[in-house]
Order: sequence, then C-alpha cells, then structure tokens
Amino acid sequence: MENVVEFFKNLPSKQCTSCGEKIEEQHECYGTQCDSCNEL
Ligand SMILES: [Zn+2]
Repeated sequence: MENVVEFFKNLPSKQCTSCGEKIEEQHECYGTQCDSCNEL
C-alpha cells in the first residue's frame, strides 16, 4: 500500500491541457497550458 502513497506524491501538480506536458510551478501564471502551447 505504501507504493500507492509514493505514486501520488510523485504526481505532477500541473499538466498541460493541450499536449499533456508537465508544467513547472514557475509557469503557473500561464494557467493550464505549457510554455509551447501558450505561445500558439
Ligand atoms: Zn502543451
């Protein structure tokens, strides 16, 4: 059961809604899209 806990701990806090790319916390101002999709 400990493996389940570790799984959720390692989940990314945010993910791009367009391509599914992981979004770093420093990009939170961009909303729900990654840097690449945001520039489109
Ligand atoms: Zn993206």
